[in-house]
Order: sequence, then structure tokens, then C-alpha cells
Amino acid sequence: MSIVTVPRSEPTVDDVRAAAGRLAGHAHRTPVLTSRRVDAELAASVFFKCENLQRIGAFKFRGAFNALSRFTDAQRRAGVVAYSSGNHAQAVALAARILGIPATIVMPHDAPSSKVAATRGYGAEIVGYDRFTEDRAAVGAALAAERGLTLVPPFDHPDVIAGQGTAALELLEDTGGLDALYVCLGGGGLLAGSALAARALAPGCRVYGVEPAAGDDGQRSFRSGELVRIPTPDTIADGAQTQSLGELTFPIIRREVDDVLTATDAELVDAMAVYASTMKMVVEPTGCLSFAGARQHADRLAGLRVGVIVSGGNVDLDRYAALLAGALRS
Ligand SMILES: *Cc1c(COP(=O)(O)O)cnc(C)c1O
Repeated sequence: MSIVTVPRSEPTVDDVRAAAGRLAGHAHRTPVLTSRRVDAELAASVFFKCENLQRIGAFKFRGAFNALSRFTDAQRRAGVVAYSSGNHAQAVALAARILGIPATIVMPHDAPSSKVAATRGYGAEIVGYDRFTEDRAAVGAALAAERGLTLVPPFDHPDVIAGQGTAALELLEDTGGLDALYVCLGGGGLLAGSALAARALAPGCRVYGVEPAAGDDGQRSFRSGELVRIPTPDTIADGAQTQSLGELTFPIIRREVDDVLTATDAELVDAMAVYASTMKMVVEPTGCLSFAGARQHADRLAGLRVGVIVSGGNVDLDRYAALLAGALRS
């Protein structure tokens, strides 16, 4: 069975700009924060784009809202379906509620109850599936076919990529230009959109994706030119446990990005502790990838203007406390 038909057309910076227009008044223009301590550590001017303070606590609201805004009347009446146990689920559920579109979210039966409750709280219908015996893409595709729903994937879709690019667009507008930009990387929607924005607004800006070291498929794909697929990586960065880049995100990343770096779980926890202690910010493990990558480049950033996209802040407090406690002990 064919699962998802992804439109083949690549988005451009004009699509990112159009997405910014659709998001105005619906997404937060999130703050850009600085830290003297971080500037001293990197001998650079570092600008943090705080998407942990975005609606639903992550940038994913941008891509979901942009994609749903472009539905036809018939698509709006029939509804949207998405499969995710993470930030994309809440993003689609909230965007659908704002736009008056019925939403169905496919989630594993054993998804954290806080996430199920949050998604249901936005008015979405939850359809459960068994992670061990069922394929969520197939469950989503079956629902889409039966009920005439439109599937919105978490990263490999031009409207999603364009929406995610608006965070970097805002950061570049607010800072008036950057020499380097670090972006958290899972399936590559955020990185591809960010790179499109950076190439247009700051042509000399180097753009780096940062993915978990346990799943270096993005780095291998980027460096080899072949789309590498891996088993689900074991990492605390649960928002970046993707098995490969997308068929749409990969060519954009390959063309527009300067390199893909990897960060270990220990580096993510160190970054998380800096955010907590120095900047008073709760950042989820996946959201720490970008800063962890920038710190690896400390020797080459002196005197530069550096952007770091903080992608999200959704982490259960007991898990957050346990991760930070581990950082203090070591
Ligand atoms: C989804 C997500 C990512 C990865 O985004 P991609 O577009 O899949 O690369 C990074 N951080 C957070 C917090 C996320 O929710």
C-alpha cells in the first residue's frame, strides 16, 4: 500500500515569507535572548531564538499551522490526521482547533499520559495503536483513506518546512544578520526551512544541523550524498529519534547547509544545565542539540555573531530533574 504522497515541489524562501504572513497573530514572535556568560565562553555574540516559549512549547506549531492554513474548504471539512507522540501531535491539534478543522491524532497506547491529555485537551480525537505490532504510518493512511482525512507529516512536506523556516527568518530579522546558525536536527524540517531563510537573508551565514550522536544518519547522509536509514536511535533527544532525513528535506539540507554535527547525551545535559542555571530556561533534551553543537565549534566562533535555535521545552519535570541531577553528580 502506498502510505503518504508527499508533494514533490521544494519550498523556497518566498514560501517561508508567505508562511510568516499566515502565522502572524497566531504564533508567538518568540524572544531572542543573550547571555554574557555564554558570550564569554564562546568569545562571540550568541543569540538564542527561544522556541521553547512558542505555543505548545516548540517550533512545530509553525509548520503545522502553515500546512493546515493551506487546506481547501473540502479538506478543512473532512479533517486532518497526524501520527506522533510528541510535539507534532500537539502542534496539529492546536492549529486544527484554531482553524476549526477536526483533528485525529494516532498515538501509541503507551504514550505518556501527559502528552495524550495535552493533545486531547486541544480537542483532537486520539486513535491508539500498538507500537510493537502495528505500523503508525499504515494506521494513519488507513484512517486518511476511510475518512477522507488529509495527512500532515512531521517534517517531509513543503508547507511544514516553510512554516518551520519562519523561526530563523524572525531571528535574522531581529539580529540584523549572523555569521553562523546552529539548528536542532531530526527529520530536517526545521533545518531545511532555516537554511532557506538564512541563504536569502544572510548569504554568508554558515548553517549547521546538530543531531544526536546515537543516530548520525543525517551526518552520514549529508557527507555521502546517499540517504542513510538507521534503526530508531537510543538517545535522550526524543524529538530527534528519526530513522532518516526526508526525501524533501535531504536535498535542501545537502545543498544549503554547511555541515551536520552530532552531540552526545552528556553534551545535551551539560547544555540543559547552562540553560537552567544561567538563562533560567527549561529546554527539553532535543532542544539542547543546537547549543551543544555551537560549543563544539568554540575555537572557530571568536568575534562572530552566532544564532542558536532553541527548538522546544517540553519535558516531564521528573525526567528533567533526574537528568540535571545526573549532570550535577558527574
Ligand atoms: C521535532 C523536533 C525537532 C526536530 O525537528 P525536525 O524538523 O524533525 O528536524 C527538534 N526539536 C524539537 C523540540 C522537536 O520537537
